[in-house]
Amino acid sequence: MPTLPEKIVFALVVLGAAAWFARRAVFLTRLVRAGAPDPDTRIDRPLRRAASVMADVLGQRRVFRKPLVGAFHILIVWGFFVFAVNTINHFAGPFLPGFNLLGHGALARWYAATADVFAVLIIAGVLGLAFRRHVLRPASLTRPSVESAFVFAFIGGAMAAYLLDYAAHIALGLEADPGSHVVSAALASVFTGLDETVLHLVARATWWLDALAHLALVALLFIPTKHLHLLAGPVNLLLRRTRPRGALSVMDLEDEAAESFGVAKVQEFTWKQNLDLLACIECGRCQDFCPTHRTGKALHPKQLIVDLKHHLLREGPRILAGKEAEEGGAALAGGVVDTEAVWACTTCAACVEHCPMGIEHIDKLVDLRRHQVLMEASFPEQADGAFRNMETAGNPWGFAPSARAAWADGLDVPLISAKGRAEVLFWVGCAGSYDDRGKRTSTAMVKILKAAGVDFAILGPEERCTCESARRLGNEYLYQSATREIIETLGRYSFDRILVTCPHCLNTLANEYPAFGATYRVTHHAEFIGELIDSGKLTPKARTGNAVAVHDSCYLARHNGITEAPRRVLEAAGRRPADPAASGLKGLCCGAGGGRMWLEETAGERINRVRAAELAATGAGAAATACPFCATMLADGLKANDRGDVEIRDIAEYAADSLG
Ligand code: SF4
Ligand code: SF4
Repeated sequence: MPTLPEKIVFALVVLGAAAWFARRAVFLTRLVRAGAPDPDTRIDRPLRRAASVMADVLGQRRVFRKPLVGAFHILIVWGFFVFAVNTINHFAGPFLPGFNLLGHGALARWYAATADVFAVLIIAGVLGLAFRRHVLRPASLTRPSVESAFVFAFIGGAMAAYLLDYAAHIALGLEADPGSHVVSAALASVFTGLDETVLHLVARATWWLDALAHLALVALLFIPTKHLHLLAGPVNLLLRRTRPRGALSVMDLEDEAAESFGVAKVQEFTWKQNLDLLACIECGRCQDFCPTHRTGKALHPKQLIVDLKHHLLREGPRILAGKEAEEGGAALAGGVVDTEAVWACTTCAACVEHCPMGIEHIDKLVDLRRHQVLMEASFPEQADGAFRNMETAGNPWGFAPSARAAWADGLDVPLISAKGRAEVLFWVGCAGSYDDRGKRTSTAMVKILKAAGVDFAILGPEERCTCESARRLGNEYLYQSATREIIETLGRYSFDRILVTCPHCLNTLANEYPAFGATYRVTHHAEFIGELIDSGKLTPKARTGNAVAVHDSCYLARHNGITEAPRRVLEAAGRRPADPAASGLKGLCCGAGGGRMWLEETAGERINRVRAAELAATGAGAAATACPFCATMLADGLKANDRGDVEIRDIAEYAADSLG
């Protein structure tokens, strides 16, 4: 039992710590709330949100994508919950002698045994993670990290102190039910023969160590360090957006009260974007599959989030004092974030997919781009030509709008303006209309549709670019103008669904148009061809059995969750899909997304060449994809790598070939 002076000191320490924690918690909460209003409803679908948080926090769903780290981490996470009762008992003990939150019956005995076992498991988890961080030193983790060393010492120290405290009590004969403390009881034998005074000293010292380690850990959260993720992470996961990942937020360009569009300063981030920053654990998973990080460009998603977080915390007092508005504050693009990094993102969503804290990187980068384009008219030179072509010619290359259906000459493809109605409106897309490679895909698709007897039609010259890449480059104005025009055009005709061969068109028409009041049933051709085969309307005949390396388009796989359909089409077409080392949700981007298709890639290695090398490394003599951007980028990459012998084609071409 602590003496009266000890109790007084303990009370003062706890009260002092609690006051400081409360002050910091209020500061951090105010800082998050100081953000701009968020466009998403963050509390819809509560059950789905709760289930998802359970899977991510208790099940460590994303953390387990690195199984060994996941195993060590889950021991600590579960231990954290198990030890909550002990922590309460520990801090209440000096003031309420004999207090146990679980009483003194069987439940308390079971709990004591469980806690003892978990103390050992937590120590194992800490040792495993410490070994990885400080001995193996993976590149994704910040090095050196004194803070992590302290955290490991505090958690491991608290657990060791807990076990030794009980062991000393058992050795002193002060523990009413020593048998419940399965580990401490065994440790007590170490103390055999020790003087009673020494044992009392050990008990007091370990008791204090346990308490102080707990307080130090909480202090580390609120400084704050990256360990704030213990609190901010679950909240961030709970408030994750439910709109489709590929759908960008809609800007109100008509808002006359708006003084600025996009984000220029940190105080213009929304409160959720602020929370995102505080939730980052700095694990580096976001950059493991990031194409810009992997190819040595200025954008490293972890660094982006960490830099923004530190800037937010530095500016916090000024923001809360209202001084940011008066004094301006530092510009993000070109100041806190390298301008090149702002434009390097391909919006491939590898970062978002793998972040265990539910952090949304893309929106922040697009918000920075939006400000650059809409307010500063500052963007990479090559984007200018693409913007102008999309605006004036309705396609990024500037080809004549009247030539949009020229690819279909001689193919007897009906125009919906002639039919008025079709079951399937085939949205051909710009690449499918003008690009040679894309035209081959469109032609193959027509062959498939006719073979299956599908009632379809195209818009022809009435179709125009969705300007999705302009939107991702920050030109929301151009995108919204195109959107209004397209919705008006589509409204003139009757169709059951839209068929697309481009995942970017899929994402735009299916995921982004509902926010503009237009909801369509949109099907990507990978799934559409699969449906035709399943229903028996399409019967592939030719089978070569040759291997085909499969490249997953980011906008098909990570943005829309479609990974199996392209492989099924290839299998049905008699080919053997061969996956490169990184595929599916882990696939490497081709480098064209986020509007990068229209920009020069000068820094670091070329992304398309790195990906092309991965495809060639499968040993397959051919490659397949289901996106016109990917096909162009990877064909260039293969050629640049002197692997032009590996021909890349769209899955529709393989399917059409197999029809004979
Ligand atoms: S943003 Fe997410 S994945 Fe990246 S370092 Fe932070 S927590 Fe890890
Ligand atoms: S979206 Fe892709 S390119 Fe952009 S930061 Fe994330 S991983 Fe990197």
